[in-house]
Amino acid sequence: GDTCRITPDMIDTLANKSFPPCMRQLNDTLRTTHHLKYNGRVIYGLFLKAAGLNLEDALFFWRSHFLKNMDVDTFDKRYSYGIRYNYGKEGKKTDFSPYGCIKIIMGNIAPGDVHGCPFKHSDVAILRQRLVAYKVSNQVIDEIMELVNKRHYQIACQRYWESIHGVPIDAGINHPNQFFEESQKFLNG
Ligand code: SF4
Repeated sequence: GDTCRITPDMIDTLANKSFPPCMRQLNDTLRTTHHLKYNGRVIYGLFLKAAGLNLEDALFFWRSHFLKNMDVDTFDKRYSYGIRYNYGKEGKKTDFSPYGCIKIIMGNIAPGDVHGCPFKHSDVAILRQRLVAYKVSNQVIDEIMELVNKRHYQIACQRYWESIHGVPIDAGINHPNQFFEESQKFLNG
């Protein structure tokens, strides 16, 4: 699409302003634990690629987090391949597409996994806390919890988008990158 380039130094700010809760959760976990499990690395890596992070910047970004837990050699041996693979530079050399909402919502989540859709997979008390921390009003949080209760996860996500931007959105949310692009379009005019 008409994606711009994003760089590693922009990611935390973009995560707060423009990432959907699923990707914000992956970024928060990466920031606090300096690690993501395999599925999280794939899903977040492909999201960032589609958002405009190039391969060189992706390697820098992941390395800068993971090196808080390991040395460069270990990182290069265990993780560089997967990052290059996401960009179609290893193995099957496929230009993998980022995951859409349905794929994330239908994914298998084990306890401790953070690569799901928070509206579907988070414990409701934790989801509520998270939305409070994201400065969503109590009234909207109640609406979102009602939608979650009815399993309308993508509509709940749409309400979240509308709440953080303060305007309605015509399109529904069907893809984390669409969430991001609509946000950037709105914020940057
Ligand atoms: Fe992410 Fe889609 Fe869930 Fe929103 S509805 S949090 S974009 S998976």
